[in-house]
Amino acid sequence: MTSDETTWKEFVRQQVVDFCNEQGSRTFSMDDFYSSKEQPIHDFNPDNKHRREKVRQQLQILRDEGFITFLGNRGNYTLRGIEMLASEIEETKTIDLTRETPQRREHLIETYVRSTGWAKRAREAFGHDCMFKKCDNGFLKQDGTPYIEVHHILPMCDGGENALWNLSVLCAHHHRMAHFADAETRLSVKQYLEKETSWRIQNQQ
Ligand SMILES: [Zn+2]
Ligand SMILES: [Zn+2]
Repeated sequence: MTSDETTWKEFVRQQVVDFCNEQGSRTFSMDDFYSSKEQPIHDFNPDNKHRREKVRQQLQILRDEGFITFLGNRGNYTLRGIEMLASEIEETKTIDLTRETPQRREHLIETYVRSTGWAKRAREAFGHDCMFKKCDNGFLKQDGTPYIEVHHILPMCDGGENALWNLSVLCAHHHRMAHFADAETRLSVKQYLEKETSWRIQNQQ
């Protein structure tokens, strides 16, 4: 296989899409990506002694083209351009998302997508009680498990990441409030959740 710039770029791009689908999240670190894909990267060009640098360079090219964004202070890349991961498409295929505005679409995806990676990780980290101030709106579903929705503090459609620090768990009422309240209320919910999430992450370890 030849390894000119174009094919390297297309190869890394496909590996990124595969990796995001496998982990069920569009946000990833270079280290996690590279260690998971080391074998296919090696097999793509076994003679290249600087594969890691090559991959980093391709990620930068993909970033310049807007396919991924890089958040320097967090060291995370986020995949753009594909709106939904394979598992999210699977879970939401009974609803028609095409007619919705980006904000409403985001709320619907968050409400319907239950088992994809980012939603699971948020529930594991933050539990099943609404994170909003002293909220006690939780309830159990018919199967006995708690009902909770996972919310992106900065929406993906506005450039948010689906890393843990941008996620929160909310009851259905406060989740609607976070999306559909007046601008001032939405801002105060967002600021509250930012503080609450970072406090919880810091106090977990
Ligand atoms: Zn939300
Ligand atoms: Zn609540």
